[in-house]
Amino acid sequence: MDLPASAFPSPVHDHQDCVRAALDAAEAKCEQRGARLTSLRRRVLELVWTSHEPVGAYALLDTLKSEGQAAAPPTVYRALDFLIEQGLVHRLERLNAFVGCPRPEASHSAQFLICTACGRAAELDDPAIGQAVRQGAEARGFSVGRQTIEVEGLCADCQGTLQKK
Ligand SMILES: [Zn+2]
Ligand SMILES: [Zn+2]
Ligand SMILES: [Zn+2]
Repeated sequence: MDLPASAFPSPVHDHQDCVRAALDAAEAKCEQRGARLTSLRRRVLELVWTSHEPVGAYALLDTLKSEGQAAAPPTVYRALDFLIEQGLVHRLERLNAFVGCPRPEASHSAQFLICTACGRAAELDDPAIGQAVRQGAEARGFSVGRQTIEVEGLCADCQGTLQKK
């Protein structure tokens, strides 16, 4: 596996490519699993992918309402639950927010790097870390269910900006 120099995309990258790739991957995965990616679920996924910053459920709800969708909080939460279940979206507990998964085709335990300056989150997705946590837990008689590791800090771009100041 090639590790990118930064887990975060360049600030000037073409984000439309990210969105397109995410929606294509979602359609392929749902079809393969026989899950129904309804237009609302698809739109919620697209909204989660508005940027690489995790987004809260109420911000999603506001956007849907502004588009004239009669969406209530349970509708949005159900759509998010579906997307999480299909591995298309991850929930960041610390921020109580949601972020799109760039590699939904592979099942993985996610580790997140969260930049406290720009608010972006990137997946580290290192299987060795997930395995180490699992082994450590099991050695202590703990059976691991779902694990999401959240690490706060500064992304390479923000470190550069802060140093120039
Ligand atoms: Zn992007
Ligand atoms: Zn992921
Ligand atoms: Zn940053």
